[in-house]
Amino acid sequence: MNSSPCHLQDLHEDLSSIDGHYTGESCAFCGHPEFAKLVEIWGPREFMIETCCEYTHEVVNEFLNEDPKRAGEWLGKALRANELGGSKVRRVIADGGQLLIDWHLQVVPIGQRAAKDFIRTHHRHCPPPAGWRFGAAVRNGPGDEGIVAVAMCGRPVARHLDQKRIVEVNRLCSRTDVASELTWNACSLLYGWCARKAKALGAEHIISYTLASEAGTTLKAAGWTVDGRVGGRHWDTPSRRRHRSANVEDKVRWARTLVRKPISKLPGGTAGGARAGAEELLAQVPARMPIGGCELARAD
Ligand SMILES: [Zn+2]
Repeated sequence: MNSSPCHLQDLHEDLSSIDGHYTGESCAFCGHPEFAKLVEIWGPREFMIETCCEYTHEVVNEFLNEDPKRAGEWLGKALRANELGGSKVRRVIADGGQLLIDWHLQVVPIGQRAAKDFIRTHHRHCPPPAGWRFGAAVRNGPGDEGIVAVAMCGRPVARHLDQKRIVEVNRLCSRTDVASELTWNACSLLYGWCARKAKALGAEHIISYTLASEAGTTLKAAGWTVDGRVGGRHWDTPSRRRHRSANVEDKVRWARTLVRKPISKLPGGTAGGARAGAEELLAQVPARMPIGGCELARAD
């Protein structure tokens, strides 16, 4: 196709040459006015483009496949997907041979019941937590179907921790049944949002747990540090069967201090020993998490 004179091939060089849906030129393939038009978005990431002819369609498809970022820009602006979808296109991705819109992520409110439903459906090793102070969802695309990750925050599950001044991200879960590109950065966004929200509500620390086999890359990148390690069975005492079906693997506690002079204390505190031990432990585990849930190991 490289030598063909199709005007839409200019897409590769100059997106601004496309004025809306039409190039204003005659199609070199079919002779009709050349056009590419976005006719539908559904599902919420599938889309259909109509063109003047199948040849032009092929050219457009090639472009969408070859340059995901520029294709996203073109689809969003020139073909007005941003307007149609009420969200901004981040990229175009190929998922098992099908092209999908990868939208810019948005943190949106979610109710407790919807958050629990999401976690029940998508978290592979933990049921939804019982407690709830607040939570949020991340959407990739319009509507409820666009939700790709959810965070639920509450009081610390460990009762010896200050129940008022410490907020725990009890669950953070992203979908693993969609292309991984679609959840890229979703966990970081949620951890950041939860920390800001906790701080706004007067919390001094925010904590969260990962399985010892998870690398915690996302948390590390968001400025959280390892505060210690807890035995998995700690959670499954007879008096507290809440986590009965949860994995009994050891957990690592992560923390971020939100204020300058906190009154409440974290067990690990800033003690270098505990942290170094946990960091060392983390260095030994595989970079990829074997169980699922939010894939913290991915560099997002
Ligand atoms: Zn044509």
